[in-house]
Amino acid sequence: MRKDNVRYMKLIFVCPDQNRSFESREYRIVENRGVITDGYGNRVMDAKVLLNESCPYCGQKHMYHVSELSCPFSG
Ligand SMILES: [Zn+2]
Repeated sequence: MRKDNVRYMKLIFVCPDQNRSFESREYRIVENRGVITDGYGNRVMDAKVLLNESCPYCGQKHMYHVSELSCPFSG
């Protein structure tokens, strides 16, 4: 797999309007507060992910908290 020019891994997002999933790597991290420890003692990244491209189903640019995503950041 080519790694050059890839800023982020492709993630799976779920459109909250249509409840359908899609893959995208056109997103960016916003409101990054770093790694925190949640109420269960897990270290999690407290940040939000904002889509750079419009949702293929409803056309909006959704924003998600990283905990909503099956994401590579929590490891
Ligand atoms: Zn949508």
